[in-house]
Amino acid sequence: MSTTVKAYGTEAVDVALHEIDIQRRALQAHDVEMEILYCGICHSDLHQIKNDFGGTQWPIVPGHEIVGRVTAVGDHVKNFRVGELAAVGCIVDSCGHCEYCNDGIEQFCEEGVTFSFNSEDKVSGGHTFGGFSKTYVCNERYVLHMPEFQNLASAAPLLCAGITVYSPLKHWGAGPGKKVGILGIGGLGHLAIKIAKAMGAHVTVFTTSPSKVEDAKRLGADEAVLSSDAEQMAQYGRKLHFIIDTVSAKHDVNAYLNLLRHDGAVVLVGLPPEPLEVQAFGVIVGNRSFAGSNIGGIPETQEMLDFCFKHNIVSESEIIDIQYVNEAFERLEKGDVKYRFVIDMASLQN
Ligand code: NAP
Ligand code: ZN
Repeated sequence: MSTTVKAYGTEAVDVALHEIDIQRRALQAHDVEMEILYCGICHSDLHQIKNDFGGTQWPIVPGHEIVGRVTAVGDHVKNFRVGELAAVGCIVDSCGHCEYCNDGIEQFCEEGVTFSFNSEDKVSGGHTFGGFSKTYVCNERYVLHMPEFQNLASAAPLLCAGITVYSPLKHWGAGPGKKVGILGIGGLGHLAIKIAKAMGAHVTVFTTSPSKVEDAKRLGADEAVLSSDAEQMAQYGRKLHFIIDTVSAKHDVNAYLNLLRHDGAVVLVGLPPEPLEVQAFGVIVGNRSFAGSNIGGIPETQEMLDFCFKHNIVSESEIIDIQYVNEAFERLEKGDVKYRFVIDMASLQN
């Protein structure tokens, strides 16, 4: 029997999020049920409630940076026990046996990955509802072991923002001797600074916000550049090995391609809804690449959590009650958050 659970969601773009009831599926043999303690607010949640990419399924319950405590396990669950901390990020199901699933990059599953919200639920039908709710239920394969972070609420954003920058930083070789650029200091960008520094790279950040220039250094960046300052930008021409681009809106990527050494790459993780223009000479000169990166698979997400625990990396967050969520989205849209909202789910009464 499915369970009725309180959540925050909406039925249309122009309707504010409000309390709704959703159904969590009956526990399957391999399922874990958790009570949600905290859930981060990612810009992807905002894109989806605005239907920026089309295809949003209504009602939508966002939230994919989920930390909770296990409350029940199915008969065949081996790796989780009731009472322990657990977490869920973007991925909650996949075929489990294709080449990509076998390689632990379930986000590219040949049969299609199921995301934690706004995705077809292949087990119970209907679509998945995210973490702005009291509980989550999914197969244990997609549940992470959550280290005992001192500030557990601020660790929630690692489940999407953290893995989304950890994966390309590792893939493109962030480490000693590497000059890495981070473009945009939001939820993803500020964690990218911390993670790239912990990997040993030299970090330069590029921001449109004057107030973040000093703050970037507090976060650990070696250098911070106001991107509107042409003179400062010119000093970085052909200096960087690669740049992680976290910008959520349309912007000029050519200005950043020009900052790359040869064989360098601008790696897009931000999801501007409009197409970006790449000038031919931007990539041809210096054999540069314009690349992308899509979250990270389950094994790498666990590796990232353990890495961040070891290096004491969590998000700088503003903890809010769920009743504040619409204001939080308005502020996120204006770039008015340093640097991640996290919902304390105790504020939602069941
Ligand atoms: P966020 O907190 O809103 O940060 C985005 C940052 O981009 C802003 O803080 C701002 O930084 C900069 N920015 C915003 N508008 C800009 C503009 N018009 N021109 C230049 N810079 C601008 O968002 P987030 O949660 O970090 O997410 C960032 C993007 O990544 C979103 O599009 C999200 O959907 C996407 N995302 C992708 C993946 C993936 O798998 N690839 C996973 C998660 C999220 P400054 O103030 O420093 O300029
Ligand atoms: Zn996200």
